[in-house]
Amino acid sequence: MAGKYRSSLAREDKMADVAQLPTSFGHELRACRRCRLVKTYDQFRESGCENCPNLNMTAEHEYVVEYTTPNFTGIITVMDPTRSWAAKWLRIARSVPGCYALAVSETLADGYDDE
Ligand SMILES: [Zn+2]
Repeated sequence: MAGKYRSSLAREDKMADVAQLPTSFGHELRACRRCRLVKTYDQFRESGCENCPNLNMTAEHEYVVEYTTPNFTGIITVMDPTRSWAAKWLRIARSVPGCYALAVSETLADGYDDE
């Protein structure tokens, strides 16, 4: 990535620049219930959610089960959330580029939303 790209976004350094993309599209795909990022169960277990490090999914694999869900519909891939109308519509404009669910049937309660 060019330095210009990084400075214009001015993201916190601890956040990943890009979320992992799902390595398969089978039944093990899950969506983060807080930010709707879509990855496989194994990816959430190994690296957690790039948008929600405070959910601590890598610490306890039960957290992956608790904070992600296989019950979602639709997947959109967003490469530049700050410029995508779809990202604004999905309210992920400040999330990292990656794959996102269009709708998650079991989102987290408001208390988890730290925006
Ligand atoms: Zn998340």
